[in-house]
Amino acid sequence: MRSTHVIHRHLHQLPPVAVAGDGVWITDAQGHRYLDASGGAAVSCLGHGHPDVIAAMHAQIDKLAYAHTSFFTTEVAEELADRLVATGPEGTSHVYFVSGGSEAVEAALKMARQYFVETGQPERTHFIARRQSYHGNTLGALAVGGNAWRREPFAPILVEATHVSPCYPYREQLQDETPEQYGQRLANELETAIERVGRNKVIAFVAETVGGATAGVLVPVPGYFKAVREVCDRHGVLLILDEVMCGMGRTGTLHACEQEEIAPDLLVVAKGLGGGYQPIGAVLAQRRIVEAMTAGSGFFQHGHTYLGHPVACAASLAVQKVIERDGLLAKVRERGTQLVQVLHETFDGHEHIGDIRGRGLFWGVELVRDRATKTPFDPAHKLHARIKREAMARGLMVYPMGGTVDGRYGDHVLLAPPFVASEDDLAIVAERLHGAIQAAVPHS
Ligand code: PLP
Repeated sequence: MRSTHVIHRHLHQLPPVAVAGDGVWITDAQGHRYLDASGGAAVSCLGHGHPDVIAAMHAQIDKLAYAHTSFFTTEVAEELADRLVATGPEGTSHVYFVSGGSEAVEAALKMARQYFVETGQPERTHFIARRQSYHGNTLGALAVGGNAWRREPFAPILVEATHVSPCYPYREQLQDETPEQYGQRLANELETAIERVGRNKVIAFVAETVGGATAGVLVPVPGYFKAVREVCDRHGVLLILDEVMCGMGRTGTLHACEQEEIAPDLLVVAKGLGGGYQPIGAVLAQRRIVEAMTAGSGFFQHGHTYLGHPVACAASLAVQKVIERDGLLAKVRERGTQLVQVLHETFDGHEHIGDIRGRGLFWGVELVRDRATKTPFDPAHKLHARIKREAMARGLMVYPMGGTVDGRYGDHVLLAPPFVASEDDLAIVAERLHGAIQAAVPHS
């Protein structure tokens, strides 16, 4: 093994050295090329090396690389906020810029808490979220996150949160239940949880609009989020939607919640906001939240050194302008239809593919040992890790993960190709993924 001073994700493995990126491809130091079918972790919505984004970053660096937000604002931060408010869910009035998804979730949690402090309800101290969710790795985000494996070592130092069921129809919708009835049952479960925690005790319900990394793209059933919104409103509980992974065009609309026909109180975005060109995340806040802070203490009691970083805002602004100029949301919907078609053609008869689910260019493939019983593979086999290795060996980047079912059992592969992928690229993805899965599944 090459020597390294970097704490890599795995301390017994060294990843290949990435040296170049163009379009949907990343090239390593050995000259191997990898088709980036997951956009890293659903980040690279414009692929790599987009000339407009790079030019915008150069221009900003030449003008002003950094100015601390306790002294100045910048034109790019203002312009990006104007754009996000204009295109945000109804009622959005302001944006808070941070450097990534976890930071954005932390900011949303604190803003929600401060809203109740400002409005005379300091007894609201509790968050409710869902099992099998992922909201980031900082302590607050990890506390609301519902992935058992990620939480376990840190559980004793996490703030208390209650977790209710995810919306996971493949495994948890009952046979005699319609999708609508299932969604209503889940909303009832949330209401029961709010009542159990106590009257006026809950700050917010936190959920990914389309569940992402930890359960492999969980698409909400029709009516679920409308019912959730009603429950939250009935109990004065804020709704925080985490669209770090599923937002900013990934599901075919700029925000995933548009398709649910609801607006959250706080919307959290990152990843596709900057497309990986710079680290950036944001909280889109409803007017009443900001008005409460304005009328109360007059500030949001939070802050980081790199809030609203001008180069990050410039990159993000360029990414968002390209998406609009090139009609990429329509492209996501068109390519999404092609992707699901090729996935079904490739995997429908496959004995180990239990479910194919998703929206736009955001798809999950859940693997099972037995399709009839939906029994997952033995976690000791580490199927997800094997698939990733086999895919890389075939020049393909996908985002597989284990623990799909309950944090321990289950495996899935997440696909989130760049919005600029061609139909031919998608065919290569399906073919190489098929090869990787064939090589990775245990043959008894
Ligand atoms: N929320 C969701 C839904 C995510 O998928 C992620 C990252 O995968 C995060 C939050 C955390 O974002 P970051 O890794 O940028 O801190």
